[in-house]
Amino acid sequence: MADYSPDGAVVNGEWITGSGQVVRAVHSPEACEGRPCVVHNLTDHNMRAFPTFFRAGGMPWDIKPPHTERTCPHGIGHPDPDDMAYWISIGEESMGVHGCDGCCQKSADENWERVVRP
Ligand SMILES: [Zn+2]
Ligand SMILES: [Zn+2]
Ligand SMILES: [Zn+2]
Repeated sequence: MADYSPDGAVVNGEWITGSGQVVRAVHSPEACEGRPCVVHNLTDHNMRAFPTFFRAGGMPWDIKPPHTERTCPHGIGHPDPDDMAYWISIGEESMGVHGCDGCCQKSADENWERVVRP
């Protein structure tokens, strides 16, 4: 990808994730107006260096509904803070439960450093 961004990008109404996935049926920008959104209204959180990864759900081993993670350089998926803001807003704090190696607790500077020099 020419202008690769770990955040991903909206192209022709489809969301290309930072992992190169194509997510169709993305909600319209009006739907998330005024609140954090992993697609349209990204906040300045500490995991912007990690590529977004969309978990579609629907498989027997998927206990969570579709949601977005950030994959750290160690291959661990951490809940995207802007996606989590939505889940918390509807009372689904448990969406934040994940197998964690600590990268989502690091500072943004530390995380960028890890991506550049893993
Ligand atoms: Zn949105
Ligand atoms: Zn990690
Ligand atoms: Zn984590």
